Amino acid sequence: MTPEVVFYIIIGILTLSFIFDKFLDHLNARHFNDPIPEELEDVYDQATYRKSQKYKKEKYRFGLLTSTFTLLITIAFFFLDGFAWVDAWARSYSENSIVIALIFFGSILLAGDLLSLPFSYYNTFVIEAKYGFNTTTLKTFILDKLKGWAMLAILGGILLAAIIWFYETTGPDFWIYAWAIVTVVTILMNLLYARLIVPVFNKQTPLEPGMLRTKIEAYAQTVGFQLDKIFVIDGSKRSTKANAYFSGFGREKRVTLYDTLLKDLEEEEIVAVLAHEVGHYKRNHIIVNLIISIVTTGFTFWLLSLFVDSVLLSEALGVATPSFHIGLIAFGVLYSPISEVIGLLLNYISRKFEFQADNFAKATYNAQPLISGLKKLSRNNLSNLTPHPAYVFAHYSHPPLLQRFRNLKRK
Ligand SMILES: [Zn+2]
Repeated sequence: MTPEVVFYIIIGILTLSFIFDKFLDHLNARHFNDPIPEELEDVYDQATYRKSQKYKKEKYRFGLLTSTFTLLITIAFFFLDGFAWVDAWARSYSENSIVIALIFFGSILLAGDLLSLPFSYYNTFVIEAKYGFNTTTLKTFILDKLKGWAMLAILGGILLAAIIWFYETTGPDFWIYAWAIVTVVTILMNLLYARLIVPVFNKQTPLEPGMLRTKIEAYAQTVGFQLDKIFVIDGSKRSTKANAYFSGFGREKRVTLYDTLLKDLEEEEIVAVLAHEVGHYKRNHIIVNLIISIVTTGFTFWLLSLFVDSVLLSEALGVATPSFHIGLIAFGVLYSPISEVIGLLLNYISRKFEFQADNFAKATYNAQPLISGLKKLSRNNLSNLTPHPAYVFAHYSHPPLLQRFRNLKRK
């Protein structure tokens, strides 16, 4: 195989995955105007339904624009030997391979993010604002960006430096060490996410005393979940959209409820949502996800170790000297079909887990308030009630409302 063939395989993968993705988007968009299933007719009144259709269409067109732009920029960058150019530029600052790789990835990621900045600005301050969702101030928007970059520079930088160091010190076995360190970081992140990452962006407070807390306490006792593991987060700082999630494990486990959720739902509905989140914990979903992620990371690093120092890959990108960072870029694209398949599998498992958590809420609390709560959330988020099954299969981490409704109604 020649470097040229590898180059065109890379372009082919980028283009085909784009076409496939747009095909799914198109299929999904063709069902935007489908009649709403009978069971969900009470979700929207006429006016809100029309608003939701406009919202879906606008998001669809905007997604088409941004992804086309991204594809064109990426392909142009490959054709213009962009990676070779950045590699040479990074090498002009240092001879140290770790420093070169940090400059290389740092500048590419920063440039990519700056290019996407106008799109993310438009999405937040024009589209989301138009439908009444946006509550992000410009200050929060800018601070979020800066904090995100700082966090990526620190965490990503340390991890990348460690992996390259192992690569250069331990040779072909480096993938085992890289796997080990990424595993340790993944476990720590899962454990400390709520303590270390979330506070950088949000405020979390314990549940305030009152009727809701009393109701939640009564429920939590019946399933043996501690009340001090329930937190409220100021999601209203960025959007009116409501949410809740479970994170961590062991002593660090917690349920986080958005303040917007507390505002939008009745007390019974909030307890039902909480019961769903406790279901994720009781069914060990966090642990299972963690194990899957550790196994796939190991597989990815092993595969990477077979290809990363190939001269063929670096020559395909127009770089004469093979290096870890150039190998990683080429590998990243060549590997993307595999990671797509893994993503499909993860979404499939995630949807199964959602049904299990719903069933847990039904068994230990009540299905009715969960149904009405989910319907309200769908209405307030202007959710698509008629997604195409293929689109759901590829992209949805949660089952569509209709399926959850039918599952919860089942005796
Ligand atoms: Zn869930």
